[in-house]
Amino acid sequence: GRIQTPGALPEEDEAETTLRPRRLDDFVGQEAVREQLAVSIEAASARGDALDHVLLAGPPGLGKTSLAQIVAEELGVPFIQTAGPALERKGDVAAFLTALEPRAVFFVDEIHRLPRALEETFYPAMEDGQLPITVGQGAGARVVTLDLPKFTLVGATTRAGLLSTPLRDRFGIQHRLEHYGPDDLGRIVTRSASLLGIEIEPAGARAIAARSRGTPRVANRLLKRVRDYAEVRGDGVVTEAISAHALDLLQVDHEGLDRLDRELLRAICEMFGGGPVGLSTLAVAVGEEQDTVEDVYEPYLLQRGLIERTPRGRVATRRAWTHLGIEPPADAVK
Ligand code: ATP
Repeated sequence: GRIQTPGALPEEDEAETTLRPRRLDDFVGQEAVREQLAVSIEAASARGDALDHVLLAGPPGLGKTSLAQIVAEELGVPFIQTAGPALERKGDVAAFLTALEPRAVFFVDEIHRLPRALEETFYPAMEDGQLPITVGQGAGARVVTLDLPKFTLVGATTRAGLLSTPLRDRFGIQHRLEHYGPDDLGRIVTRSASLLGIEIEPAGARAIAARSRGTPRVANRLLKRVRDYAEVRGDGVVTEAISAHALDLLQVDHEGLDRLDRELLRAICEMFGGGPVGLSTLAVAVGEEQDTVEDVYEPYLLQRGLIERTPRGRVATRRAWTHLGIEPPADAVK
């Protein structure tokens, strides 16, 4: 339901809309990315030019969509959104591109899932603002080239590595969003609490931040669940103790791992002797899609040093064994 066609309205829930940062100044953390974008935006605006094309890479929920909307807002131009898998034919791309206003931001989420055959449609559009289209069929077919207004393509991807080099090279601005540290997440939780009218103590915010797997979307989700708990089991105030109890109840542990994270670790350790085990086998073992395991779960487990990627598959580290409360075998890595 997240994919939007030109006619459809955004299908975000109300809280998500309220919490989305609107301007660069509201966007917490990712200082280098923010600073560099601010400079590029100011320069493009001063020249009255479209901003160079922007590629945003990083795990889900770190703020790629938010940043894309902010870019449009800061430039003062329309924001048009779609996603790679929603573009199936050349005509789909043409419909979007020909409807763009000058300098508009055209956001393509999951751009790594754009069909290869369509990538080439983007090249002349990105470079020269041209869109060659074939009119007619068979012997009478001919190619007409449409001139497009200058626009900014903002591509978001969880896997920059899957983008073809020619496509990637056409983005003049490329940024990678990293997981957020506890201080930034604490600020995000505090900001969201204030927007949602939730009373929260600093230690309560820190407790939620610590278990949010470095991800603002998770932090916001946990905050809402903790609020429920505070209202039902407490007096509505999110304290450290309330956060801890609520998060225990949600089975989010002190490393921020949820049930499926632990199942993954358990599968590697108990079913496959610590690994190496291939990703597809692992996905089957926990009953999840391979893409979900790779995009959503694995990056955080890697970042926490709980698993390692080797050419022969995923391996559990000593920390993983210890985290599960199992004595690591003598040959466990690190
Ligand atoms: P996906 O690619 O899965 O859509 P995303 O990386 O585009 O994920 P967003 O939808 O932009 O992530 O962010 C999720 C939510 O997290 C936003 O609605 C916003 O409330 C919050 N958020 C993300 N980044 C920040 C930030 N830097 N500061 C404040 N809030 C943020």
